[in-house]
Amino acid sequence: MSLPSLEINQERWNRILLKSYWIVLLLSVLVECAFLMVTKLSAGDFVAKYIFRPTILLTLIISLAELGVRRLSKHHDYVMITAATLLTVSISAIHSGLQYIMFFLFFPVMISIFYFQSKKLLYAVLSTIVSLLLLHTFNGVIHERVSYPSLLAMMVLLLIYCGVAFGILARGKEILMRLRTSYESNQELLVRTIMMDKLAKTDALTDTYNHMAYHEYSDYLTVQADAGSMSLFLAVMDIDNFKKVNDTFGHKAGDSVLRSVAAIARAKVGSNDIVARYGGEEFVVLFAEKSFQEVYDIVEDIRKSIAATSQEALLGSNVTVSIGLNDYAAGMGKEALFHGADVALYDAKRSGKNKTSLSESLALKAMQQSP
Ligand code: GH3
Ligand code: MG
Ligand code: MG
Repeated sequence: MSLPSLEINQERWNRILLKSYWIVLLLSVLVECAFLMVTKLSAGDFVAKYIFRPTILLTLIISLAELGVRRLSKHHDYVMITAATLLTVSISAIHSGLQYIMFFLFFPVMISIFYFQSKKLLYAVLSTIVSLLLLHTFNGVIHERVSYPSLLAMMVLLLIYCGVAFGILARGKEILMRLRTSYESNQELLVRTIMMDKLAKTDALTDTYNHMAYHEYSDYLTVQADAGSMSLFLAVMDIDNFKKVNDTFGHKAGDSVLRSVAAIARAKVGSNDIVARYGGEEFVVLFAEKSFQEVYDIVEDIRKSIAATSQEALLGSNVTVSIGLNDYAAGMGKEALFHGADVALYDAKRSGKNKTSLSESLALKAMQQSP
């Protein structure tokens, strides 16, 4: 995702500018109505020459601009700048007053600033200069009223004004670049924070969650289970006789077994469940929003799959795990949840290993539910 450029919302701005053109038309009519009170011409002549004809001409120009913006697939901005130039040419040609020619110098250039692009500003300046020269050459009244030194002064004014406009564009671009740089470094920081967070929660050897992450999720899920009717189960799983595995095949082979056991557990659980390495050769699995039967089936599937997997690092022999399973009752807290599962695990170890034992409360419930 990138920061939008200054071309954002261009269409909306063109619509706003078109509205402003209609306001220019309205204002020009209002000003002419004021002149109607002081004119020496007859009212009929004045209305025809300074109100009726200009209104039709300006309406035509603005309507063409509306049409261009709606119909053309691109170059809308040039249509808008050209329309601004034509509006100023028409108003200046009809009235031939110096005050209108000043409007000439500003309007198209101001419109082009909206687009924050040097080439559009340049287009506005050039079209203003060309139109001003044409008007001075072909409009007799203006030719008479504006001497060549005045025309030169106007061009100089226009160029000064244009320099300021370029400065505004450069400043705008500088601010945009600054914003973009800070936006990108914020994005980078966000990605780095997410990665650091993942690293902080992951056990490097087995790629499961680590002890800290287990406690974090356990806190969160027990709060959820306390608040609502969400079911929560905890399985504590310990590799049987792992010390002997290390002693016989070496620590590296032991590490490989730990990875294999973790991978089997991860592959068997659902997307709501959390597998974490509690420490050493002991893993925990938090099961959320599952029935006892679903959890028991998954836990047994994990146990049997581990027992059935021949470990390459152990020259093809297998390891087994013992599992203690407990369920969460509202208000019991995460320590009691763990303790119940741990006692059940001890029971599984004591009664022969490679088995799943239920906590006392869970065994009672399972017995009551069985037909
Ligand atoms: P039990 O069936 O009663 O669980 O017996 P056990 O041998 O598995 O249990 P014990 O607690 O006696 O030994 C656990 C061993 O796990 C001892 C330790 O060296 C080993 N171990 C702990 N962490 C790691 C590890 O990260 N890598 C390897 N390779 N071994 C580890
Ligand atoms: Mg063990
Ligand atoms: Mg152990």
